Amino acid sequence: MWKEDIQPFVGKKVMAVENNTKLDADRMLNKSITKVKTWGKHFLICFDDFTLRIHFLMFGDLYINRRKPPEKPIKLSMQFADGELVLYNCALRFIEEPLDEVYDWSTDVMSEVWNPKAAMEKLKAIPDALVCDALLNQDIFSGVGNIMKNEVLFRTCVQPLSMVGKIPLKKWEEILSELVIYSYQFLEWRKAGEFQRHWEVNARKLCPRDKAPFIKAYLGVDQRRSYYCTLCQVLYQ
Ligand SMILES: [Zn+2]
Repeated sequence: MWKEDIQPFVGKKVMAVENNTKLDADRMLNKSITKVKTWGKHFLICFDDFTLRIHFLMFGDLYINRRKPPEKPIKLSMQFADGELVLYNCALRFIEEPLDEVYDWSTDVMSEVWNPKAAMEKLKAIPDALVCDALLNQDIFSGVGNIMKNEVLFRTCVQPLSMVGKIPLKKWEEILSELVIYSYQFLEWRKAGEFQRHWEVNARKLCPRDKAPFIKAYLGVDQRRSYYCTLCQVLYQ
């Protein structure tokens, strides 16, 4: 995990920055990293009285003590006495408030305080919502994105147009635990630069379980791209 990989930098002072953003990155100079945290897709590098929030977009990357070839533009690099963190393809901003005021840690499926019971309660309150919308609801599942939504619904054999209230509780438990499992796998694969290779349903033509052609459709409130199989994925309605 990136979070673990960065631990050696905690307590280290930023000696120089290379900045290709509009951020006032110089404010980090001579400041030491106090903590590294994550919330959903947000990666948080904390300093005494502010935090650098990094949102890795689809192909964002963090390189530690090495760089991509020079033609790949660096967003931001932080240099330390004995190392360097280099960020590519990400959205960056500073957070001034204490993080506990900004983030509800219990909604993050990768947090130690992730609370599936609270998620289940929120789901019970929206029985008529479509599961494809519910999984993308960041107030319930922070950090779950569209790719993950498609993969987890495929793994658990649920069609995206299923209604939240019609999916049996047992099936929901399966979906919730698969979200956690997939989040960690996703991060590992992504770090290895190979996450697309592990997609079973996204951008695929045929279902690997029964060789039926996948349906590709833009579904839900935000018309997000969905892939699914009508043979092995169940429509709960
Ligand atoms: Zn299938």
